[in-house]
Amino acid sequence: MALSSRRKFLKISTGTITGIVATSALSPVVTGCKFIEEKTKRNVKDIKKTPTMCDVCFWKCGAIAHLDNGKLWKIEGNPNDPLSNGRLCPRGTGGIGVNSSKDRLTSPLIRKNVNGKDQWIEVTWGEALDYIAEKMKIIKSKYGPESMALFSHGSSKFFDHLINAYGSRNTCAPAYAQCRGPREIGFQLTFGDSINSPERTDIENAKCITLIGSHLGENMHNSQVQEFSKAIEKGASIIVVDPRFSVAASKAKYYLPIKPGTDMALILAWINVIVKEKLYDVEYVEKYGYGFDEFVVEIEDNTPEWASTITEIDTQLIVDTAHEMARYKPATLVHPGRHVTWYGDDTQRSRAIALLNALLGSWGRKGGFYFPSVYEIPKYKYKPYPSSETPNIDEANKTYPFLTPGMGLSTDIRKATITEKPYPVKGWFVYATNLLGSLPNQEETIKAIKKLDLLVVVDIVPSEIAEWADVVLPESTYLERYDELNTDPFKINYVSLRQPVVESPNNQKPSWWIAKKLAEKLDLGEYFPWKDCEEYLDTRLKAAGLSLAELKEKGVITGKQNPLYIEEGIEPKFKTPSGKIEFYSLQLKEKGFDPVPKYTPTEEPPDGHFRLLFGRAPVHTFGKTQSYGYLKELMPENEVWINSNVANNFGLKSGDRVKLKNTEGIVTDPVLVKATERIRTDCVYLVHGFGQQSKALKSTYKIGASDAQLTSKYKMDPIMGGTGMNINFVSIEKEEYNG
Ligand code: SF4
Repeated sequence: MALSSRRKFLKISTGTITGIVATSALSPVVTGCKFIEEKTKRNVKDIKKTPTMCDVCFWKCGAIAHLDNGKLWKIEGNPNDPLSNGRLCPRGTGGIGVNSSKDRLTSPLIRKNVNGKDQWIEVTWGEALDYIAEKMKIIKSKYGPESMALFSHGSSKFFDHLINAYGSRNTCAPAYAQCRGPREIGFQLTFGDSINSPERTDIENAKCITLIGSHLGENMHNSQVQEFSKAIEKGASIIVVDPRFSVAASKAKYYLPIKPGTDMALILAWINVIVKEKLYDVEYVEKYGYGFDEFVVEIEDNTPEWASTITEIDTQLIVDTAHEMARYKPATLVHPGRHVTWYGDDTQRSRAIALLNALLGSWGRKGGFYFPSVYEIPKYKYKPYPSSETPNIDEANKTYPFLTPGMGLSTDIRKATITEKPYPVKGWFVYATNLLGSLPNQEETIKAIKKLDLLVVVDIVPSEIAEWADVVLPESTYLERYDELNTDPFKINYVSLRQPVVESPNNQKPSWWIAKKLAEKLDLGEYFPWKDCEEYLDTRLKAAGLSLAELKEKGVITGKQNPLYIEEGIEPKFKTPSGKIEFYSLQLKEKGFDPVPKYTPTEEPPDGHFRLLFGRAPVHTFGKTQSYGYLKELMPENEVWINSNVANNFGLKSGDRVKLKNTEGIVTDPVLVKATERIRTDCVYLVHGFGQQSKALKSTYKIGASDAQLTSKYKMDPIMGGTGMNINFVSIEKEEYNG
């Protein structure tokens, strides 16, 4: 039975989640004074420490979980781990709240039609996986394997492996085209290499750091923030460009409150000053640069005076900040940002940032961008995936010439699901990502979901998309499971492990187990030849001369420290067509794009409207942490930042509540006002991830306002398919609050 034509939003109510939920809230021992008070009462011999890896965000910090008499007590950074350096961020510290969150999914659920009504029915794992396997087999025989797509987030790759073994290459991660994708391509087009995650930024040694819309400190990527603090302590000069006076701005020597949408003009003007006054690293540019003379001609008219009228930043401030960056070169880092999908020209803006760094000679230099290394752990030797004549949807569409092959575009898969072009997509497997929060335009996502024959959601909590699923599978948290090894490129190479610290409290299972069991039911068991994840990990580690036993004990093993900079003897290799840093890009020109970035104006807010900006908070990761006891206490809801003068005009003050309405007529739930001079008058700001619309999220349902609801417009980046999302405008509706 296909539910495609009848699928409706189906609330996962408390009545359907009948399993026993661990009720103990996060122990008060991690909060404030009680922490000290209770710590003294603990008996050291009752404490068991287990190294593992945090999963509250994708930074993957090494951590040490402490159990007191078998009960989770606290989690700290692993001092041997290069990503945490022995310290977790607030989210990591409060992350153990996930284990006892009362919002957790407890058992597999299947949507069934009972007496003409869709209902969620708790089923066994066997029933749930049989159901999914049967549907997937029907989809494969009717439409081909590529009609099944995977959307995922996080470090587990077992579902990617499963979907590839099934025969589909339609796997994608919203974290790419909705976040850092344009940055990776902008830098690749310039240096032949991307930034990656963790970012290869040598913040600690930078003498000047420029942040463009990047709010380090609120965006809590652990080692970056630690390095940023060190750089500030060492007296680094900080330049912050942001329409909002962020925490980072409070540390800045220069703060540039830029008019939203005009960053490209500012970057081009900086380039113009540095080139015209010959303040760039002449030797570096001559040695490594390609097309510099053509580049100079292209940026000739981008004067500070020209940029000042566009950006609303004083001409002299543009000149002074250009001088400041040049003064500290090559130890000047113009940070590439992370969430860079703003206006649809984001690859070109990222390329402009790359070019500014190239002029300053910071690529490959101390205090700029280092050359990362990786601990080589051979991949598991699997049987090859089935060959297919059918390209994945991006390759078939050929719309975005510089999209990294194999990355996959969530919005292309969504569109193909709606239009059935280039071919039908009938099944979605959604792992650890709430597509209604991560993709722009919820209406399009729901339209696509309604066309599906199968929607499977695997998650810890019943996110908004879970309520549209046919089957919901509860995953064990990071404190309860093994996962893939982490060997992400960094300053020092390392391998780190996530291992179970406690048992799952109910009927939750780790992703490796779900993928393996489902593969067996799909007659694909030969692709999962290992007995369990321990055997899988041990096989990989043994191939590198290590062992799981050793890694279980240490949590992280570091390798040798390789040279990081040109100064340390590295001869850089630029994997561009010219083999050099491409100041002028012939490959862009050949495909009809500007070989040197140009400023194009973005749409202005209509009368009575404000540009909607959104970002991160130090204590939450998107929508996933809001029910974690300690973190919820620290930040229970978001606020809308409104300039004080604007708030006055509306008769609003901090603590009042308003609704936000976008130009498409979508209205949020009431949200608290933060009336502040720390934001421009033409925009408002929300922390992302609040305003959850899933009723099963008992502690977070409709608390705060959802920026995702309001992000109904988006502009595709023609170079690589990123979705520019800072093009939505909202009006403010005063709320009569009776709370
Ligand atoms: S940055 Fe924070 S939340 Fe992210 S992995 Fe590290 S400790 Fe966990």
